[in-house]
Amino acid sequence: MRLILLGAPGAGKGTQAKHLEQTHGLKQLSTGDMLRAEIKSGSKLGQQVETILAEGNLVSDDIMVEMIAHRITQPDCKKGFILDGFPRTVAQAQALDVMLKENKLDLDAVVEIKVDQEALFDRIAQRTAEDGGSRADADIETVKHRMKVYNDLTAPIIPYYATSGLLQTVDGMRSIDEVTMQIEAVLGA
Ligand code: AMP
Repeated sequence: MRLILLGAPGAGKGTQAKHLEQTHGLKQLSTGDMLRAEIKSGSKLGQQVETILAEGNLVSDDIMVEMIAHRITQPDCKKGFILDGFPRTVAQAQALDVMLKENKLDLDAVVEIKVDQEALFDRIAQRTAEDGGSRADADIETVKHRMKVYNDLTAPIIPYYATSGLLQTVDGMRSIDEVTMQIEAVLGA
């Protein structure tokens, strides 16, 4: 099974991807995790993208497409994969279509974890404030910026997948377990 998980920052994509990884034997491909690993390793790419991530902006489509193209053909993706954080732009979605076609692979579903962004923002801001520290305001501004980037650049891929008939939407404001059940239900349908 090959899936895409979509959703605003904090919607719970990573949590649900990890669950699907365990229950369905799929490989979670989190581009955010891959980029953070590059930064940690101090690689040239890591140095290139560090500020972009810190500011909540998007890494270029070229870099991201190359990263995923290389990844989906690895042996650990043979049973299937969950894309978590990719695609994040319409250009990335189009490039994904091309690379899947080249490898004779199909997508089974695109699951949007839909959240109330204002409620989510309040939740994240509260957590950030409680964690304290002098950077709390800067962090809140970054979260706000990440939401804007999502709405401006990533949300347009939702109609892209709705047109292709792959889109399934679940209510991300429910508990983690309830969201899991909804995802299982749409995948089983
Ligand atoms: P995430 O952990 O998915 O929230 O990603 C963290 C950060 O990594 C994002 O805010 C972006 O700066 C960057 N990033 C992750 N995936 C992508 C992508 N597909 N395209 C561009 N930037 C990305």
